[in-house]
Parts: sequence; C-alpha cells; structure tokens
Amino acid sequence: MDDFKVTPWDVEGVVDYAKLIVEFGTSPLTDELIEKTAELTKSELPIFFRRKFFFSHRDYDKVLADYETGKGFFLYTGRGPSGPMHIGHIIPFYATKWLQENFDVNLYIQITDDEKFLFKDKLTFDDTKRWAYDNILDIIAVGFDPDKTFIFQDSEFTKIYEMAIPIAKKINYSMARAVFGFTDQSKIGMIFYPAIQAAPTFFEKKRCLIPAAIDQDPYWRLQRDFAESLGYYKTAAIHSKFVPGLIDLGGKMSASKPETAVYLTDDPEEAGKKIWKYALTGGRATAKEQREKGGEPEKCVVFKWFEIFFEPDDKKLMERYHACKSGELLCGQCKRELIERVQEFLKEHQKKRKEAEKKVEKFKYTGEL
Ligand code: SF4
Repeated sequence: MDDFKVTPWDVEGVVDYAKLIVEFGTSPLTDELIEKTAELTKSELPIFFRRKFFFSHRDYDKVLADYETGKGFFLYTGRGPSGPMHIGHIIPFYATKWLQENFDVNLYIQITDDEKFLFKDKLTFDDTKRWAYDNILDIIAVGFDPDKTFIFQDSEFTKIYEMAIPIAKKINYSMARAVFGFTDQSKIGMIFYPAIQAAPTFFEKKRCLIPAAIDQDPYWRLQRDFAESLGYYKTAAIHSKFVPGLIDLGGKMSASKPETAVYLTDDPEEAGKKIWKYALTGGRATAKEQREKGGEPEKCVVFKWFEIFFEPDDKKLMERYHACKSGELLCGQCKRELIERVQEFLKEHQKKRKEAEKKVEKFKYTGEL
C-alpha cells in the first residue's frame, strides 16, 4: 500500500513521483525531450524544465514531432474556481505561458465553475461563478498573449454542452468509475462532468497539449480511450509536481489549510509573517549546531520554493545549497531572503491583477477564433 494518494480532488501524504509515473502509466520527461524542446524553440529553457518540475508526460514526443513537421499543436489548461488562488496554483500557468510564447500556439483556459459547484458541497453555484471571475484576473495577470489566449467559464460558454454530448456517448459508467472511483452516492452531474472537461481537447483538429499538475491526469486518461473513435487525437500532457505548502515538503499547497498557503491576494506584509512563522526549514535545533553540521536543504520548504520559482539563477541556487550545507547560511537569513522575493512577486502580481480588470473581455472565448 502506498503511503500517499493522488486523485483530481485529493492529494495526501508524501508523494513518490517515480512511483506515480508507474501507477498512472505515464512516461518520464527525459533529458532528450527537454533538449529537443530547447532546440525546436531556439530558446533558453525555463527553470520548470531545467529543474524537472515538469517530470512526466503523455505523447509530448509526438507534440514535438508535430511541431517540427509543421502540423502544429494547441495548449489547453484550466482552473477549478473554488476559492482564491495561491502561489501553488499560479506557477504552472507561468510554465504554460513559456510554452505559448516559445511555440507560438493558441491556448484555451477552461474555468470549471460547474465542476466546483458539483464537487464541493459547501459552495453555491453563485460562489463558484464569483470565484471564476476572481481567478480569471489572476490568470490574466500572468501576462498571456490576448490574441492567442481564450478563456471561458463553463457556465457561460454553453456551446461546450453541445461538444460534450458526443463525448458523453463514448464514456460508460464503468469507465468513469474505474478512473475516478465514483460510488452510488456520487451525484449524476459529477458522473457527466468528465465529458465537459474533455471537450476542449477537441477545439482544434490538431494535437492538444495539456500542461497541468499530475493529479489532473485521470481526466486525460479517459479522453485517450475514446478520442480517436471521434476522429481526434489522443491528448498529450506534461505533468508537473506539486508546489509544497509552507509546513510540509511532501504534499501539495492546500487551500483547505490556509496557514500552509500564500495567496496571490495576500497583503505582502501578512504573507511575509506567514512564511516567517510557518515555513518548514531543514535547520538544526540551534545556530551553533547548524554552523557545525550545516543545514539540510533537501528537507526544507524554503529551499524548495527557491528551486521551483523564486531563484531563477542556477548558479545562485547552488551557492545557496552549498552555503546551507556548510553551515555558513542560517535559516533566519535564508527565510528573510525568500520573504523579500515573495513580497516582490506579490506586489507585481497584484498590480497586474488590477490592470487585468480592464482586459477580461479581450480574453473571453466565444467559440470563434
Ligand atoms: Fe533551508 Fe535555508 Fe535553512 Fe538551509 S539555510 S535549511 S536552505 S532555510
């Protein structure tokens, strides 16, 4: 039995990513594929690839081949609007932006206000619609190209129903139950929902590439079972690891544990206090012991956050690693440096988020390109 669990709705325990590749039947994102990405885009790779934050894939090799031969591909990702977005939610959008910019392709972003209403007992439909608008501002603030980025909210983009119907005819209950673990108590809306989530993979007659955290993979596994029978490609995906919350290195930053998360709308001062108080370090019991033995960056959330997002310079990251290991760097100073980076990021993000209010209409997908 694994001591971790990963489903589209729940991540528990310390995730073993190598094991997950085997369990989910995906493939490791190899150095060869990463190098090929750099070669084709003629670009310097972002840290998400260099440091294997994206670590697994389905058919990414075929996506690269389609790009190389001129067939092209498109991107699709999404967000379930159940509350405010935190840093863990937004980081994969930065990776998506890099892919869009460097491959110069269309990107569709599905905001699943219907799904969150169906799956979260405590939320009303009005709540999820309100969060949809709120989350769209955060996504636009990432800086996507408005001419190639199409955002749609399921409850408003009703054409999606028409597209989901042929898909719904291809999925029987036992297929959906095998992938998602539905029970007799599952609502019928939940059982239909995978058809809605699969529909955007058919928006263009090209291969679709989904950059998303690995917990969303079950949806795409199901899509791959029937896509070809409807005359479309099996969707491709690249999977990211999770951004850990402040208090626990192994799992996923969770909105249900607010003390573990830094929200994009947090006041930067308050966010700093939260990091100072809660962020797990790999430090020793006393400063004296740390100077003698050195810290343990492998066990440290502060280091992980630098590695995933807040230290883009590889050389500086390694310097921090060695300074920690040698006992030269102490956790107080290291945390203060992370807090500064996070606060800078939040201030900038919040400024762009404000500007995004005027851009929402530009990004709205109507079904026409
Ligand atoms: Fe983590 Fe920094 Fe402390 Fe090392 S010095 S354990 S990297 S917080």
